Amino acid sequence: MPEPVIRVLPREVVNRIAAGEVVERPASVVKELVENAIDAGATRVEVEVTDGGRSRIRIIDDGIGMGPDDLGLAFVAHATSKLTDVDDLLHIGTLGFRGEALASIGAVSRTRILSRPHAADRGHEVVNDFGTVGEIRPAASAAGTEVDVADLFRNVPARAQFLKSVRAEMARVTETMHRLGVSNPEVAFRLSHGGRHTAHFPAGMGQRERIARAYGRDLLDEMLEAEGEAGGIHLKAYLGPPSRTWADSSRMQFFLNGRHVKDRTILHAARHPYEDLIFGRRYPAVFLFLTMDPALVDQNVHPAKLEVRFRDASGVHALVRRTLRGALTEGDLAHPIPLPPPETGERQERVREAIAGFESRREEERPSAGLFDRPAAARGGAPAPRPLAEAIEFLQARHSFLVLEDEGGITIVDQHALHERVLYDRIRARFRGGDVETQRLLRPVVVEVSPVEAGRLLDAREALAAAGLLVEPFGEDGVAVQGLPAAAAKADPASVVSAILSGLAEEREVAPEELVEDVLASMACRAAVKAGDRLTREQVRELLAEAEDLEHAGTCPHGRPTTLRLTFEALERHFRRMG
Ligand code: ADP
Ligand code: MG
Repeated sequence: MPEPVIRVLPREVVNRIAAGEVVERPASVVKELVENAIDAGATRVEVEVTDGGRSRIRIIDDGIGMGPDDLGLAFVAHATSKLTDVDDLLHIGTLGFRGEALASIGAVSRTRILSRPHAADRGHEVVNDFGTVGEIRPAASAAGTEVDVADLFRNVPARAQFLKSVRAEMARVTETMHRLGVSNPEVAFRLSHGGRHTAHFPAGMGQRERIARAYGRDLLDEMLEAEGEAGGIHLKAYLGPPSRTWADSSRMQFFLNGRHVKDRTILHAARHPYEDLIFGRRYPAVFLFLTMDPALVDQNVHPAKLEVRFRDASGVHALVRRTLRGALTEGDLAHPIPLPPPETGERQERVREAIAGFESRREEERPSAGLFDRPAAARGGAPAPRPLAEAIEFLQARHSFLVLEDEGGITIVDQHALHERVLYDRIRARFRGGDVETQRLLRPVVVEVSPVEAGRLLDAREALAAAGLLVEPFGEDGVAVQGLPAAAAKADPASVVSAILSGLAEEREVAPEELVEDVLASMACRAAVKAGDRLTREQVRELLAEAEDLEHAGTCPHGRPTTLRLTFEALERHFRRMG
């Protein structure tokens, strides 16, 4: 890196720079100062925080350092070594570029910078005392830079009051350090609070390990990795399995050229491939690292540089979506239900006989209802036999789990979860195809609800009808359910209503499509066989036959797994029978 030369930016550049406050809270100070250290080529950055950052934030790096001339300009607003003219704004390769962080921080704290370039034999220091910049003085210093920020916001009581508890501010600082740590894997970071180490990303600790350290140890084994490239944009992705979800999106983190960004395009593209695998408002773990020519993006739209504007937003969207979808489909995330190879000859004959024998016995036992009401057309002939369904040997453990054997191993099925997935996919496919058959109830079922709840249901009446559920007002505190989707005609209307209400109760706007999918999922859940339901062989056969056609048989609509697979190979390994 060349020796930095700090210049005052020409006015026109200043005007092009989005105005705004850089320093909102301790975490923003940490972010700006650590980014400066990274821009200065540091390989190690230490961050020491006292009292959640109010009393003190000290950042020590081993980067290129500043000589006395640079120190003289460091606190001058819009002085930066990283930009010289308007054109440079279009090619921002460094994390900082506006030359306003140190000036802003110095205006609201007592900030001391101590620095020495590696080649210099002594260091210098300068203090900015709440906006008053002192003399540059020689001072003993290690090579690199130390920025010490004391009494943040002491001169701005309004801002100080705005700060949250020490713990809350520290949580933000830690979050900031986690993001910096995972997006700069070649730099070692250490964070301490009140003398206690709270985050540590040593040198040589890879990105995957860093993500797991920051966002959850299980992710280390669970995450898939994928890479993609298109139109000069490169994407490296780490993906959690759809079966691991969280109530908030804090494990969906996106980085552009090493900088954390919040971007709706990326968020949308990242959630999309999970849509069918995760039910409702749960979020997967997705860590995306995009790199592209800085000229392809305007990073100068947000004061904290969090938001960006892509030249080719749809290209970015497509790349993210395609890469994630590919990884999720190929990845071993969905525990597909394994099918034995097609039966041949003698064995097939034996199986057929066995089933025939079983079916005749079953007739004698009792007529058992099928699990599914097939559409009229399909109901005519017997359903085409399928290999798995035909060859089935099973054990129903605790009336909840089906234990199936095939040539490759043993599969354990959670009957409720799998049935729920089958019903959900079926109902949703019809819904998406515009073909929602509503089965009118012979007699409307009145469900008692509070007047507020009745209001919520009736407000959503159209969306519910689109999903095949007909509700009408009934008195002050009730609704009348007049019809259910044909595919879920067996569900108990009252429990469907209560499931929908719990979805509607959340205090936020729900898009109609989202609501419909929620409704479908709650109906599938209510209509599915329960754990504890005894299943006949015929029912199991039907369930498995249906599941064979599923794209996402591995998870239920809530994202929980439906099956557990034990291959004989794994069993033999476990029991040390191999080799
Ligand atoms: P910006 O990062 O946008 O350039 P700052 O106010 O954050 O603006 O920093 C001003 C200048 O001070 C930087 O351009 C850089 O030259 C210098 N500087 C700041 N921090 C460091 C550091 N840790 N090591 C070396 N130089 C630094
Ligand atoms: Mg900066």
